[in-house]
Amino acid sequence: MNLNDLIALGQGPRSVLIQWLQRRDLLANPLNCAPCNQGMELIERNDTHVDGFQWRCGGCSKKRSLRTNTFFAEFSKVSLSTLILAIFYFTQDDPQQRITRALEINASLVSKIVTRLQDVCSIDIMSRPFIPFGSPGTAVKCDESKFNHKAKYHRGRRAARDAWVFGIVSLEQSPAKGYFQVVDRRDAATLLPIIQRCLLPGTEVHTDDWAAYTRLAALPNVAAHQVVVHAHNFVDPRTSVHTQEAESAWSQLKLGRNRRKGIRREDLQSYLDEKMWRQWRGGSYDNVTDNFLAILPLQYQTATPVD
Ligand SMILES: [Zn+2]
Repeated sequence: MNLNDLIALGQGPRSVLIQWLQRRDLLANPLNCAPCNQGMELIERNDTHVDGFQWRCGGCSKKRSLRTNTFFAEFSKVSLSTLILAIFYFTQDDPQQRITRALEINASLVSKIVTRLQDVCSIDIMSRPFIPFGSPGTAVKCDESKFNHKAKYHRGRRAARDAWVFGIVSLEQSPAKGYFQVVDRRDAATLLPIIQRCLLPGTEVHTDDWAAYTRLAALPNVAAHQVVVHAHNFVDPRTSVHTQEAESAWSQLKLGRNRRKGIRREDLQSYLDEKMWRQWRGGSYDNVTDNFLAILPLQYQTATPVD
């Protein structure tokens, strides 16, 4: 899927765009009327209306929005073509400023759309979790990293608590994939249950020499615990390559954070969820938009009949 195709789709006849969305289960096909137990028909409406079409039941004559039971109903004043382009730019990881300029809609609306699309990522990794991962013979690297809260809106006041992110990065794949969670504390009582929950039995775990990891080897799912001290990496080329992968996963996270000029602590987990979704489900830049459009209908009941 590429940008020019989507722009052409948006500029073409609305019926073609609607059929394109219906083929992807992004619009009902058709919307069903519950009392009449039959499919409704698409009828044209006032040409100045944002959709140009709506549903009408041939039995009871009731009318419903084209967007009933879909993601698009949440942004009812924004055209379908604009929303599809917003999804394209979001999935291509474009910054919000750039999306705002490209779509010529206001920045706060773009922010609302992006927040909603991040929620879709969060829901997807919760309802179809990629954890636990690892397996016998594979290794992961655990790290904690401080994501400093930038006091964007509270100049002069002390920044809120630092946000610590705990991460478990699989060392078997390149680019690296991992699990990342905002944590209030970095103690064993916080970190070890996360490790146990995220790993399949038999996984080897690499960490630094932070005290919270002392009893890591006692976890049922952990096959071995290796303390990797940076200064010693050159001794073991295999470990060194792995460490680079893990570090690159963290620098990707921080790069995105910097590009957004800081992320409020309460928004940080959503940001991490989006990144995890990209790592595990997004695929290549060529496929990421299709992959996102494929999960979107899973979160809406377009087939649910309306009363
Ligand atoms: Zn009806």
